[in-house]
Amino acid sequence: MPRLSEVIAALDALWPPERAEGWDAVGTVCGDPDAEIHRVLFAVDPVQDIVDEALKLGADLIVTHHPLYLRGTTTVAAGHFKGRVVHTLIKHDIALHVAHTNADTADPGVSDALAGALDLRVVRPLVPDASDPSGRRGLGRVCELDPPMTLGEFAARAAARLPATSQGIRVAGDLEATVRTVAVSGGSGDSLFDAVRAAGADAFLTADLRHHPVSEATQAASSSSGRLGLVDAAHWATEWPWCEQAAAQLDEISDRHGWDLRVHVSKTVTDPWSAHHTSPSIDGAPN
Ligand SMILES: [Zn+2]
Repeated sequence: MPRLSEVIAALDALWPPERAEGWDAVGTVCGDPDAEIHRVLFAVDPVQDIVDEALKLGADLIVTHHPLYLRGTTTVAAGHFKGRVVHTLIKHDIALHVAHTNADTADPGVSDALAGALDLRVVRPLVPDASDPSGRRGLGRVCELDPPMTLGEFAARAAARLPATSQGIRVAGDLEATVRTVAVSGGSGDSLFDAVRAAGADAFLTADLRHHPVSEATQAASSSSGRLGLVDAAHWATEWPWCEQAAAQLDEISDRHGWDLRVHVSKTVTDPWSAHHTSPSIDGAPN
């Protein structure tokens, strides 16, 4: 049975913590380096539902994409929801480890998993990591859709292939436009519009898109085939495929080391939105 320190060393080799952004908070949140690890649970969010799931499963390590504490804290009192998470974890000897922006830019990274879920052929990173001579690491991915399809068909594929959420999929742009080159970025991709335009993408799939960037991006001509189409999925849904990819990577490492490790992926939907109502009619003036 591997110790926590050995499993963490393997995870750090996949997603070196020094490659995380300066503002990020990655690494081990709690856990005894000498503790034996039998079961690992991968999830996007370190929330109480996931900790409860780990408890039920008998997992001794949770690996999440999002940090529990991003800005530091002066208390882990159980009266606060994050403190409650820490208390539950420590009381039951469950370790928590985070791989965030270091997993985003990895090869393979979060956006490779997203592209894989959508059956896209990855061509290159959207924003390459200058320190990577192979040119494979970086933020987001530029992909090819073969054969090409319409923006409407591509959005329908995203709805069918990504895990279901209340938000579902929002689309901006001409639904009949042909989509051949697609940029994808798991999580909030709002800041990547310049790179998406520079890549000549016909469509951009990401999460958390806002009114003004979407309005401007769909008005400005982008690729040779026309204006940029936008596909906005739930943040959680765009990052969840990474959990499956990461679990498979750890499974493979476990086999190589002869570890008897059980690796699970949480199917609990932790996207915070709980309902979505389509307006009865979008014709006519606001009432
Ligand atoms: Zn995220």
